[in-house]
Amino acid sequence: MLPDLPFDPACVLIGGTWQRATKTIPVMDPSTGQVLTEIARGSARDIDDAVAAASRARDGDWGRMPAFERGRILNRLGVLVTHHIDALARTEALDVGKPLSQARADAIALARYCEFYGGSADKLMGQTIPYLDGYTVYAMREPHGVTGHIVPWNYPMQIIGRSVGAALATGNACVLKPAEDACLTALWFAHLAQEAGLPAGALNVVPGYGAEAGAALSAHPGIQHISFTGSVATGRAVQIAAGQNVVPVTLELGGKSPQIVFDDADLDAALPFLVAAGLQNAGQTCSAASRILVQRGVYDQVAQAMATAYRTRQVGPAVDDPDIGPLISAVQKQRVLQHLTQAKDLTLLAEGSLSDDLPSAGHYVAPRLYQDVPPNHPLAQDEIFGPVQVLIPFDDEAHACQIANSTAYGLVAGVWTQDGGRQMRLARDLRAGQVFINNYGAGGGVELPFGGSGLSGHGREKGFEALMGFTALKTIAARHG
Ligand code: NAD
Repeated sequence: MLPDLPFDPACVLIGGTWQRATKTIPVMDPSTGQVLTEIARGSARDIDDAVAAASRARDGDWGRMPAFERGRILNRLGVLVTHHIDALARTEALDVGKPLSQARADAIALARYCEFYGGSADKLMGQTIPYLDGYTVYAMREPHGVTGHIVPWNYPMQIIGRSVGAALATGNACVLKPAEDACLTALWFAHLAQEAGLPAGALNVVPGYGAEAGAALSAHPGIQHISFTGSVATGRAVQIAAGQNVVPVTLELGGKSPQIVFDDADLDAALPFLVAAGLQNAGQTCSAASRILVQRGVYDQVAQAMATAYRTRQVGPAVDDPDIGPLISAVQKQRVLQHLTQAKDLTLLAEGSLSDDLPSAGHYVAPRLYQDVPPNHPLAQDEIFGPVQVLIPFDDEAHACQIANSTAYGLVAGVWTQDGGRQMRLARDLRAGQVFINNYGAGGGVELPFGGSGLSGHGREKGFEALMGFTALKTIAARHG
């Protein structure tokens, strides 16, 4: 059962007022298929109203608020999130099908984003620029104005923290469109933001379908920046729509990220990361390490150890905190199974089991590990977004790098080796926005700039760098003689 929600989930939040929607969308528990509640099916009209409310906030109290006051509000919000971690985690587990401890980690990360961006709000400095004699020139960072945030279902709390947190810290007024499949914690976050003292209109939330509320937001002429996380196809559509208004877009679209294990790697340290980074959130993670590249000298050893781990992974309802929960929806399960129809020519090294007592309407998929997968095989090239990893053998450093860089994506890479020179060469040569050496994910990395190249998207969120993305530089040249 859902915890008691301190807000009506069938509402949109516009200009500080919770307004009940005329149309709603049922909220399903992916673990059981049961209806939990209903959320608003926001319309293009709601988006118009939300953008207007955000514009008023930008031109009013919120826009004039000193940076340190914005920081204080975000810090208070971080404290409130921390007080509600258990309830937020349970809500996310039920809404997303994410195992309870993983949902809890997301709630903790949301609080950390509030703290990090709260602390940074008054520390974003401009520049003074040496120029001609008789001039004083300086450049200051300004918020874009009204920012749109289109968020997916896989990590709602973390993605809201990193994008809305940074946008608010820099003084933007936000319109948030959470995913139709998972938006309860987005609404709860907005409720807590009100409690923390965020002025009306600084954060507006319009849940709804992508083709309705999402498309209306990305095409809206009153938006000055869009942050989008989700699929490549939708990212393209959002960028094209925003392009009509010549609006900058940050796109985070996923990946086919490798972890590369050399013969000299500390395998005891590597093995837990090799499996966990592929199966976390049932593989529905943009930075999932879905390709494991292993040098031939340790290939069999790594393959057997990973196979053992796969056979012991428990799949179950999210609130029971298994290793692996269900996929988000029947549609997502169908997508994953469709990818797996291409695996008929591959060797399935290990498959987890699904117990007979799993709820029959839950969207469960057993984890699968394939071995000796040719690097150009569709399962080694396409983002599956499910609990599936492929093992690929390689000969030497150059071969590993060539395979790692052979997909259309470039988000994250992991390198396991004791050789310091090799660590530095691969850090330089791998096409990825983040490279982890002898670790993977660095514990979530609130402070670490994140984003990709190629089909993984462009722009950076997280860390201090996100503050650059949510601001523009204004140059002032004063001639005084
Ligand atoms: P999606 O891209 O369709 O949805 C992401 C967000 O975009 C949601 O809020 C959705 O409502 C919104 N949206 C959908 N259509 C829109 C439109 N025309 N204009 C504006 N917004 C729109 O993703 P999905 O269908 O939920 O998942 C499909 C695939 O996307 C997955 O299999 C996975 O490969 C990928 N995905 C990636 C990430 C990631 O973190 N990179 C997250 C979720 C999904």
